[in-house]
Amino acid sequence: MINAAMESMLESIATREDDLVELTRDLIRFPTVNPPGEAYTPCAEFVGDRLAKTGFDIEYVRGEGEPGDTDRYPRTNVVARREGKRPGACVHFNSHIDVVEAGDGWTVDPFEGVGRDGRVYGRGACDMKGGLAASIIAVEAFIRANADFPGAIEISGTVDEESGGFGGGAHLARKGYFSKPRVDHVIIPEPLNKDRVCLGHRGVWWAEIETKGEQAHGSMPFLGDCAVRHMGALLAAFEEKLFPALDAKQTRMPVVPEGARRSTLNINSIHGGQTDDYTGLPSPNVPDSCRLTIDRRFLIEEEIGEVKGEVLAILEELKATRPEFDYAIRDLMEVMPLMTEKDAPVASAVAHGIQAVFDREPDYVISPGTYDQKHIARLGHLYDCVAYGPGILDLAHRPDECVGIADMVQSAQVMALALGELLSAPR
Ligand SMILES: [Zn+2]
Repeated sequence: MINAAMESMLESIATREDDLVELTRDLIRFPTVNPPGEAYTPCAEFVGDRLAKTGFDIEYVRGEGEPGDTDRYPRTNVVARREGKRPGACVHFNSHIDVVEAGDGWTVDPFEGVGRDGRVYGRGACDMKGGLAASIIAVEAFIRANADFPGAIEISGTVDEESGGFGGGAHLARKGYFSKPRVDHVIIPEPLNKDRVCLGHRGVWWAEIETKGEQAHGSMPFLGDCAVRHMGALLAAFEEKLFPALDAKQTRMPVVPEGARRSTLNINSIHGGQTDDYTGLPSPNVPDSCRLTIDRRFLIEEEIGEVKGEVLAILEELKATRPEFDYAIRDLMEVMPLMTEKDAPVASAVAHGIQAVFDREPDYVISPGTYDQKHIARLGHLYDCVAYGPGILDLAHRPDECVGIADMVQSAQVMALALGELLSAPR
């Protein structure tokens, strides 16, 4: 239930709509495109300078030695912390400041921060500078209304989420920034919609499979052994056995969109024979190698060993039955599936905020793809984490990306209420 003090805090967030819009536009104007990691430092400093004015201690942590970190493109993260008046829990809002390239098809300048029709447009408006701005406004309003709050509040702006988060969330997690006792609860304002709590994500296994052959003159292919044909046999076996098996796997994870509420496999790339960067005619060759990369997304009900085993069984069967079939397989990446329970403190605090602001129960969702929660869990060993923020995921990474202004205001209200509940709960 909302009391009068909370009501006036929500009102003060609503009256700061212009500030929220300006802040979002300012953030979009830093073209923090990744790769290569442009304008990270000025964007991080902008966030740090803003929060310093509300009494936050500001720390800049460079992802030194991480992929992409150079003096020209330093991986600059900002971590802001404000101590409360007495001991208590720490609530951390983590946003990534990097964005993907603008691409074509825009009707507005992607880095100008155009506001029109109740929305702010720009690369990163939705994913996720609108969420970062909403969390800053939420925290500022909360502190103004609760000067003697207990515990601590943190806001971070991290880099490289779009390329795996190694110089950002993972780097900080490895250094203890996302572990107890420093932090207790984490909210990641990714664009999962203002009335939904995102509890986690499916697991990921990326692998490269190579089929082998023997080179020969293309006019006499029978003298060699075509690696691309072997790969064709593998793909046929995938179609016949693997895809139907994956389609049939049910999950209790509420993944959105619903099509992703099962196991999936994408064939990410295939390369065989001569590369396509030549300009003339190809020479006639039987390819001796063909490489395939797969992107397998799996469920909380599946073990990683079983996920790999399904693919290995098909490869082994081909090896046993198809003449000359030989292969190699190499893991490229593994991320375990994650699902915070609905009754975890951070999930229920956000749910109560949604109930208060929208007068309805939240939807609980799981993201089809991963985000920085994986590093907080695996490296920080902190599991009280959800994603919650304004914006519609479908608009992310697209031309004319935008975020609704009313959505940002309402999510800021939800975040402020959740913050209040988490800080006032016994630790
Ligand atoms: Zn994002």
